[in-house]
Amino acid sequence: MATDHIPDRPSWRCRSCGNPWPCAPARHHLAARLDKAALATHMWAQLDDAFGDQPTGPPAEMFDRFIRWTH
Ligand SMILES: [Zn+2]
Repeated sequence: MATDHIPDRPSWRCRSCGNPWPCAPARHHLAARLDKAALATHMWAQLDDAFGDQPTGPPAEMFDRFIRWTH
């Protein structure tokens, strides 16, 4: 189930497949469930949470991982 592909915090790895979240199934599920604007808003909120958990993560890398794929 794609709904099992949720982030484990504070590691932000997928609880189901262990890949950095959002993994491919999670992206697919989110894109199917939300329109583009809602998806971008949702992922910005996730990114904000991830920065709160991992303030040392490289911002450019985090942006690519959370936001760039939504465009
Ligand atoms: Zn996954």
